[in-house]
Amino acid sequence: MNIQETDSAALKQYDVQNDPLIMAEVERLLAGRTRDIRLKGKIGRVFRNRIWSQTAKIIRAWMIWVAVLGVLTLALNFFMLPPEVTLPMLLPGSLLPPVALGVAFVWRKPRPPWLQTSVLLAGMLLILLSVALVGTSAGGEFYERHLNIMLFVAITAIIIFAIPLSLTITIAGIALGLYLVFQLHNPYLEVASIVDATLFFATGIIATIAARRTMTILAQKTFLLELRDRRRVSQLAEANARLEQLARTDPLTGIANRRWMMETLERLWSRSTEIGGGAAMLMCDIDYFKNLNDRLGHAEGDRCLIKVAGIIQSNMRRERDHVARYGGEEFLVVLPEMEEQEALCVAERIRESIEAAALPNPTIRASNCITLSIGVAVQAPGDSILPEQLQRRADAALYRAKQNGRNRVELHKLGG
Ligand code: GH3
Ligand code: MG
Ligand code: MG
Repeated sequence: MNIQETDSAALKQYDVQNDPLIMAEVERLLAGRTRDIRLKGKIGRVFRNRIWSQTAKIIRAWMIWVAVLGVLTLALNFFMLPPEVTLPMLLPGSLLPPVALGVAFVWRKPRPPWLQTSVLLAGMLLILLSVALVGTSAGGEFYERHLNIMLFVAITAIIIFAIPLSLTITIAGIALGLYLVFQLHNPYLEVASIVDATLFFATGIIATIAARRTMTILAQKTFLLELRDRRRVSQLAEANARLEQLARTDPLTGIANRRWMMETLERLWSRSTEIGGGAAMLMCDIDYFKNLNDRLGHAEGDRCLIKVAGIIQSNMRRERDHVARYGGEEFLVVLPEMEEQEALCVAERIRESIEAAALPNPTIRASNCITLSIGVAVQAPGDSILPEQLQRRADAALYRAKQNGRNRVELHKLGG
């Protein structure tokens, strides 16, 4: 699957835990030290896509918070401070809310990464610039206070935005750069104290970047562990399904085995609604099979069993019919909701198909071909008998078919 950088819909549907290259990378990263975890390339894109909606939600909430705060502080200043202070604040202050709301709008849904990144960085620059300009335009005590507020605003963004480290560092750089540039133009401060303060804030911001990085690494590790878990669960489910399939299948013929048939009978008869419409059972047995084995060898006998199983199976026309290899050369067929006449037709069709296949059995003098005897027992709709009982009746009918010369269908008749 070719994953495009911008194709987040494809990434969303992409089954990562089934990609061997990605899973090898997951194992490699988890085997190393946590602090060395870096998600690059395809796995990095999958991770970013996975956390996108959460990241975007946080960025939008932050933008709205900043916009509301901007409007509130401007309004408060307007009422509390003299106009000569508040009027210069108005123009730079009015820049902030539309910018923040614009960024929030762009981050409403996934867009090309370059667009998201540039809008976020440009938005942060304008927001921080607006906060700084509000103070520097008002002057006096507001000059430094607003630069400090700007750094505070930047730090909250650094901490909570789960974005790539390079972007976090860029935002930190913008904040410190603005701080330094405006402070250098601060008429009330000496250069030494400006450098002092900048260094002080720089160390604080570096610490927040380190904290952000640790949080990102832990989120990435959680993501890797989740991928590993998901893969293990799906491998286990696959292994279980395979085992279940093996446990239900006859290894020679590939059709269902006796165990599966017993489960099916139990299931069908426990749901009275299903079997309430009656059912038919066909017990099919290959004639003189022992002789064939003795004459042509066991391997030829096996090949014959496979073909007979296939022919019986191909005569099951309805979804709800069931066939299983019941014993050595015996096959049990269950036909839910089938009445006597139809069941006899199915049995006769099976017998004729085996005859028509002309599978060789040189020990049968008349035809030299494999034949099948079938005993049929039918449970009429509304009758309540157990499946074992019905099976015994089909067995008895089969016995009669053998007695009456084989290669025939016999129906079990009550009292007969
Ligand atoms: P009848 O017409 O009365 O049914 O005679 P028969 O020879 O078919 O019946 P019998 O029960 O005497 O023999 C069944 C033979 O089926 C005996 C056994 O060697 C053979 N058989 C059972 N399972 C397998 C198998 O998996 N492969 C092969 N090749 N033969 C098998
Ligand atoms: Mg037999
Ligand atoms: Mg037999």
